[in-house]
Amino acid sequence: MILGAHVSVSGGLHNAIKSGDELHCDAIQIFLRNPNQWKAKPPTAAILEKFSTAWTESPIAEVIVHDIHLSNLASPKPEVLEKSRAQFREQMELAHVLGLRYIVTHLGAHLGEGETIGLKRLSDSFDGLFENAEAPDVMVLLETTAGQGTNLGYRFEHLRDVIGMSKYPHRFGVCFDTCHVFAAGYDMRTEADCETTFDQFDHGIGLDRLKAFHLNDAKSAYQSCVDRHEHIGEGAIGAAAFAFILNDARFAETPLIIETPQMKTMHKTNLETLRGLVAFDTLSGGD
Ligand SMILES: [Zn+2]
Ligand SMILES: [Zn+2]
Repeated sequence: MILGAHVSVSGGLHNAIKSGDELHCDAIQIFLRNPNQWKAKPPTAAILEKFSTAWTESPIAEVIVHDIHLSNLASPKPEVLEKSRAQFREQMELAHVLGLRYIVTHLGAHLGEGETIGLKRLSDSFDGLFENAEAPDVMVLLETTAGQGTNLGYRFEHLRDVIGMSKYPHRFGVCFDTCHVFAAGYDMRTEADCETTFDQFDHGIGLDRLKAFHLNDAKSAYQSCVDRHEHIGEGAIGAAAFAFILNDARFAETPLIIETPQMKTMHKTNLETLRGLVAFDTLSGGD
């Protein structure tokens, strides 16, 4: 099991490793820049050095990048589209320098233009990025979304289509966010619901594309299309879905990242809750 959390980089990227270590994370997720600003100062050589030293000394196996909130690689507004592409390219190149292989991003919003056009523009954005960014090994993980407003990515078919239209399908994976998927209308409340949802995922996209999970319970209701995360086991999804994922051998090597509320004070509790859902036979490696 590769379990971890989204952690803060405040005070420098290396501090994320420290926070991850304190929480006994096997994997962490970070922002490489302020998620609410377009402009970012690149980290200094000293910070890059501190990060790589801290990571080398840490048992953390995977550091995943999350794209900034402003990004809309499907935008019909030329200025936003251009800024989104430019900043994403910078992130890909920084990830490459840092030795990070995954950048998670939402699919953006079509803003009234329609899903077909939005998905095509998104796929074109990635083709350009894969062609121009000096980041040959960096993969984009498309994140399943809740489907708020005109956001794309709330059906597995959207992700399938973006990958399918790309000239570089091998550069894509998927990040499965439990809260988003549930709010979008894929049920996960019982074991049978989970079986059905992962079958749909497998038929639509393929489980081989699933490279990361965001484990979040939902404050929002089933089919609400509202994206509000809740502590593990305390939301509308409930503990059974998390027990299913944690004990499924297909996901044994897949990073599982929490993005639950109050990360400074509650990450420890949420990670403990998840560890408590791992069945003894899974821990001991038996059936
Ligand atoms: Zn997420
Ligand atoms: Zn969310």
